[in-house]
Amino acid sequence: MKYVSTRGGAPALAFDDVLLTGLAPDGGLYLPARWPRLTRSEIAALAGLSYAETATRVMAPFVGAAIDAETLARTIDEAYAGFDHPAVAPLRQIGSNDWLLELFHGPTLAFKDYALQLVGRLFDHVLAARRARVTIVGATSGDTGAAAIEALRDRDNVVVCILHPKDRISEIQRRQMTTVTAANVHNVAIEGTFDDCQALLKAMFADADFRAATHLSAVNSINWARVMAQTVYYVTAAVALGAPHRPVSFSVPTGNFGDIFAGHVARRMGLPIESLVIATNRNDILARFVETGRYQTGAVVPTLSPSMDIQVASNFERYLYELLGRDGARVAALMETLARTGGFAVDRAALNETRAAFAAHGVDDAETEAAIASLYRRTGMIVDPHTATGIAAATAYRGDRAAPMITLATAHPAKFPDAVTRAIGAAPPVPPPLAGIESRPERCAVLPNDLARVKDFVRSVAVAAPEREPETS
Ligand SMILES: *Cc1c(COP(=O)(O)O)cnc(C)c1O
Repeated sequence: MKYVSTRGGAPALAFDDVLLTGLAPDGGLYLPARWPRLTRSEIAALAGLSYAETATRVMAPFVGAAIDAETLARTIDEAYAGFDHPAVAPLRQIGSNDWLLELFHGPTLAFKDYALQLVGRLFDHVLAARRARVTIVGATSGDTGAAAIEALRDRDNVVVCILHPKDRISEIQRRQMTTVTAANVHNVAIEGTFDDCQALLKAMFADADFRAATHLSAVNSINWARVMAQTVYYVTAAVALGAPHRPVSFSVPTGNFGDIFAGHVARRMGLPIESLVIATNRNDILARFVETGRYQTGAVVPTLSPSMDIQVASNFERYLYELLGRDGARVAALMETLARTGGFAVDRAALNETRAAFAAHGVDDAETEAAIASLYRRTGMIVDPHTATGIAAATAYRGDRAAPMITLATAHPAKFPDAVTRAIGAAPPVPPPLAGIESRPERCAVLPNDLARVKDFVRSVAVAAPEREPETS
């Protein structure tokens, strides 16, 4: 399987190179040159398989010859063995034809674990095969940093360094990162905002000499392997509710468009999905796009669902490439317009195609709280504020449509106790991974928002020179 860039100006790569490279050199994102298909009988044959077995069948065509079949199957087994539910991604019924897909059974209690537990192991495997090591640097506003640290701790070929904005993430989110004391894990609190952290990261990656000297790499949300791993739970959920014999719909709390794009991929592979509902909070650029055909950035407003407080949804470029008939030059031109003017528009035909594939609904904080409270009153179940936007959007879309509606529960409510307490008057119970976290020792450097100081720090912890650059193999 070969991968191509959404901007059409980079050489095609195999899976292992795409895994390590992240962003394409022309600024685009990688996508498979064609979609592998699951036939109806192949989908039917998934019924009753374990999550790991289904994952192996769904992902094998994307990996191709880059990793041998036995290693892939073993790596997938290991990635999901530590999840705290035997189904890995269980469904829970919340209404007569409505379900929650619980994606918080990994070690850091948000859906990011489903991709990063696998991607961390794939990195380690590919790097070991190349006898290379990398320094993975990331910036986080919350859930991704914890999931990346948990996935990469104690791995031989990786040093991980995560920047977060000092005092601007929740205490639980911070402690999930800073209480990991593995020797290859380094946390840095930057005296600044999340945007400052991202700017520092960008500047480090833009410095070719620094990049080479520290063997810099990333596992951010545009990494194709993360999207690939997320495709699996769309398949397991649909099969559990009757695919391929009846279609289902999904409502997806959306920020960077990575998770819902994985649903689009599952559909392209042949999974019968009636609708994909984009749930946004007040940062509703995607909902406005589905309404008007215009993609227009604005200022980010803080909400009860902080992991969705995003204005430029980086994975949206992947959908745009599909929408524009895989014309990389047109995507590059629109992205240039976006960077220059803050927006672009697509034509009527493209808008109609988008509306046939996606519904969208923006949910404000009051509706989010109401959705948490209403589900609790009806069922006694407690959901987190991100999941609540999905439930509210599903309710708005549903009407009398017959397809089962599956809302993705993207985080455990205990990660967001303040919002939950506001909605139902009580804090959610604390699950085992968070028990005692408030008394564990923390390790974290504090640095000013100063590129030279941050570079010095990264240099001081970076991996020693590998025998070979990962990019050159
Ligand atoms: C990251 C995240 C989202 C948004 O997912 P995208 O792939 O960025 O659209 C939603 N909910 C939670 C809890 C998250 O951590």
